[in-house]
Amino acid sequence: MDFAYSAEDLKFRDDLRRWLTANLPAGWGRTVFEPKDEDERARFRLDWEKKLFKGGWNGIAWPKQYGGRGATLIEQGIFAEEMARARAPEGLNIIGRNLTGSTLLHHGTEAQKQRFLPKILSGEEVWCQGFSEPNAGSDLASVKCQAARDGDHFVVNGQKIWTSFAQYAQWCILLARTDPSLPKHKGISFLLVDMKTPGITIRPLRQISGESEFNESFFDDVRVPAQNLVGELNGGWKIAMTTLAYERGPEDALGRQIRFKLELDQLLETASTLKRGGKAAIDDPVLRQKLAKSVVEIELMRLNCLRSFSKSLKGEPPGPSASMLKLYWSHVTQSMYETALETLGPLAPLGEGDSLSPADGRFQLSFLQSRAFTIYSGSSEIQRNIIAERVLGLPK
Ligand SMILES: Cc1cc2nc3c(=O)[nH]c(=O)nc-3n(C[C@H](O)[C@H](O)[C@H](O)COP(=O)(O)OP(=O)(O)OC[C@H]3O[C@@H](n4cnc5c(N)ncnc54)[C@H](O)[C@@H]3O)c2cc1C
Repeated sequence: MDFAYSAEDLKFRDDLRRWLTANLPAGWGRTVFEPKDEDERARFRLDWEKKLFKGGWNGIAWPKQYGGRGATLIEQGIFAEEMARARAPEGLNIIGRNLTGSTLLHHGTEAQKQRFLPKILSGEEVWCQGFSEPNAGSDLASVKCQAARDGDHFVVNGQKIWTSFAQYAQWCILLARTDPSLPKHKGISFLLVDMKTPGITIRPLRQISGESEFNESFFDDVRVPAQNLVGELNGGWKIAMTTLAYERGPEDALGRQIRFKLELDQLLETASTLKRGGKAAIDDPVLRQKLAKSVVEIELMRLNCLRSFSKSLKGEPPGPSASMLKLYWSHVTQSMYETALETLGPLAPLGEGDSLSPADGRFQLSFLQSRAFTIYSGSSEIQRNIIAERVLGLPK
């Protein structure tokens, strides 16, 4: 694992650092933060993404002809690290960039790439992912949403659920059944759906955190031009697997680790200053033990990320090892946020805006958000199944 940077890599890093200093709001991450209101935050994140694009920093791994800058893997690693260190905001169009774009680069026609990719990076078109249904989550191949061919269109009928950002999206990657008579993995197609098409209804779902990141989406006689089929008719399963590999993959793992490490540092600071029973919380030997466990685990997460990154540098595909990475980071960070609430003790129920709430309720909100880590991008049980069968070679 030798990540010695070349002179070009160091220049890339310094250019990015300079750009971030010039473009993040003054006081960013210390006194200035993202808007609290969900809709305002969505607008803020989209504006940030547009700014990144104008600066030439959005979708850096993509080929130049589609708006990227053809960055090397090392540059992608540096980018993830620097963005995390600067606590740069996340974009709104994560599904567009990480899932749709990456999938189209592999499976899209040239016309589809030219039509869709540049507008993903410029922030003109936000995407959502219409895969999960009420009875097709882990068992995704059971999707029932139908797309029937009618001349030069497909007519889509059915329901999707947990569609993140659908309320902000102009487009959707949709998995639909195009031949119910074929075995379930073989009768599915991958469509690109314009969310303005008549017949689409979006209903936000309110989450435990009080936010509504995801939605139920209903499709009633929605007409989708046949040219928006990606890959072959009934060949959507293979394409969806590419999308999921990008969703679980190690591309931004290094940055994620740094963001969690910054959270842990803030937790250690809170534990050192917060008084419990007349002493600093960190002096409680049981709590101290748990905090130390998180320190070790977040460091192990870094080493896991580096191992995975090192494999990518050698040209090895992420494969099932992406499941090990995902399983590990999701559980250790959940455990870190549980320790965070224990650190706050009786103050833990106090949320944002309460003058007595340590760190303005951020740990409480992060704890609630962390419950989703072991569900999305494939639940922990599914990751364990993959590791058992494909890494350890155990029988099904
Ligand atoms: C924050 C968040 C955002 C999401 N965003 C999107 C999105 O934008 N688009 C989208 O399409 N989906 C999205 N999802 C949905 C996500 O992909 C599903 O929640 C996930 O695949 C699990 O499916 P499910 O919820 O239907 O649970 P189920 O599949 O019903 O699983 C229920 C339980 O059974 C277990 N289980 C199921 N099958 C097995 C098995 N074979 N072996 C062992 N255990 C099993 C699961 O691990 C789980 O504990 C999102 C989910 C979350 C939490």
